[in-house]
Amino acid sequence: MIRCDVLGVPFDAVTPEEAVRKGLALMETGGRVVTPNPEILWLCHTDPAVMDAVAGADLILADGVGVTRAARKLGRPLPCRVTGADWLSRMLGVCAENGKKVFFLGGKPGVAETAARNCPGVTVCGVHDGYFKEDGPVLEAVREAKPDVLIVCLGAPKQELWMYRNREALSGILMAGLGGSLDVLAGHVKRAPVWIQKIGFEWLYRALRQPSRVKRLFVIPKFLRAVAKQKKREKKNG
Ligand code: UDP
Repeated sequence: MIRCDVLGVPFDAVTPEEAVRKGLALMETGGRVVTPNPEILWLCHTDPAVMDAVAGADLILADGVGVTRAARKLGRPLPCRVTGADWLSRMLGVCAENGKKVFFLGGKPGVAETAARNCPGVTVCGVHDGYFKEDGPVLEAVREAKPDVLIVCLGAPKQELWMYRNREALSGILMAGLGGSLDVLAGHVKRAPVWIQKIGFEWLYRALRQPSRVKRLFVIPKFLRAVAKQKKREKKNG
């Protein structure tokens, strides 16, 4: 599989269908799926611990037009963006068809339960909220439930660090760090209308709906400067 380096993170050049096929294959071995957007890439750029947690994942999906545009600018176009929410919705369909078990971890108390109720046909073998103090009891609950896929929605970079820290304790299980996806499944957060997603402005829609997200946009100019620097460096080195 072709991988495209953006700021040191090797994105998988996959279509949404290929991303689901890869997810299905990873259920056999276990592994980690991450969906970095420019904000997470900036965290990777500035924090080696986050870089280790993200760049070492088994499937790295471009969640956001900022990433696909950066890849194009660097001369390594990705087929398209594959958002975590889209990947999850397709994966849940595949899990329902194949009798695979899913565990929802994250969100405020009650969110994972509501998300599970909103997924008829999917075997949700366990749920846990994302506001716990110790990993131990959560790991125990997951191991007991024996899911094929563990959806980890603790926000970035907490979920990426959590999956990386617990990769051995949960070996054999596919884990996917998917931010606010359980809030979306539970119906507490609405995604942008499809036409806004298509023109590449979902990030702005989300910031306007949740003003607490606006400060996150400040990293975008820094991200763009770092990509421009990467391009210059690569040009110089041939
Ligand atoms: N969250 C959590 N535990 C925490 C912090 C956050 O479970 O300690 C949840 C939070 O309730 C929300 C999700 O993580 O459901 C983060 O959502 P957000 O939309 O901020 O994620 P993004 O996709 O932007 O990273």
